[in-house]
Amino acid sequence: MRIDILTLFPEMFAGPFSTSIMKRAQERGLIEINLINIRDFSTNKHHTVDDTPYGGGAGMVMGPEALYSAVLHATRLTGHANRRVALMSPQGRPFNQAMALDMARRDNLILVCGHYEGIDERFREDMVTDEISIGDYVLTGGELPAMVVADAVARLVPGVLGEASSAKEDSFQAGLLEYPQYTRPREYQGQAVPDVLLSGHHEEIRKWRRRQSLLRTLGRRPDLLVNVELTGEDKQILKGVMTDLQQLDLR
Ligand code: SAM
Repeated sequence: MRIDILTLFPEMFAGPFSTSIMKRAQERGLIEINLINIRDFSTNKHHTVDDTPYGGGAGMVMGPEALYSAVLHATRLTGHANRRVALMSPQGRPFNQAMALDMARRDNLILVCGHYEGIDERFREDMVTDEISIGDYVLTGGELPAMVVADAVARLVPGVLGEASSAKEDSFQAGLLEYPQYTRPREYQGQAVPDVLLSGHHEEIRKWRRRQSLLRTLGRRPDLLVNVELTGEDKQILKGVMTDLQQLDLR
């Protein structure tokens, strides 16, 4: 898949995209990341891309012209029809794993990083297919959100993660939070690894992990359970928890 990132600060991406899994994915040709400097598409003498807001007020607004041209340039580079143009915006849809999965199935993703007070509304209306927020807070620019989105999407592209199963059991992938993980040593500061994980009994380990996933999700993110297709075994586990809770004297 190809990810084009439209930004005023391409140098910000050097670190995150040139290390570890993101670096290897590009070297292996599984993803291609193309940084496009929006300023290169400014046609005025000083290569500015922002101007004061109509109606007055604080700050500057990114004008539509350079953004339009930069997106058209990115779309011309490849003939992909199966693409999304996503604007990073605190007003966008909260980003989640389901959105990352949908994007990972596309051939081309164009991520647009805003700056200053934001961008001209006409660009948003005409060119943007998705608006993505990475949380209810305001950052100085869309570069960090674009890194978050590109990273979350790239690791779901087939082959990017070493083991096919690594993403399958991740939190949110099947709607639940992931179970707790342990590695050597068997005992650390008086705390032992749960016996079942040392038993070599695959079915018992699977059941333990599923139970832990359910309990963790119930305790930390009960809102997620509403959208999970629970198996008969899951329902038994949760019923057991409810029965235990009912027996507690909470007065
Ligand atoms: N004035 C805008 C508003 O209140 O909605 C905020 C502009 S913000 C200072 C500048 C740029 O940073 C935005 O255009 C967007 O690209 C990016 N940005 C800031 N916070 C973000 C968030 N939580 N998620 C995604 N992008 C964000």
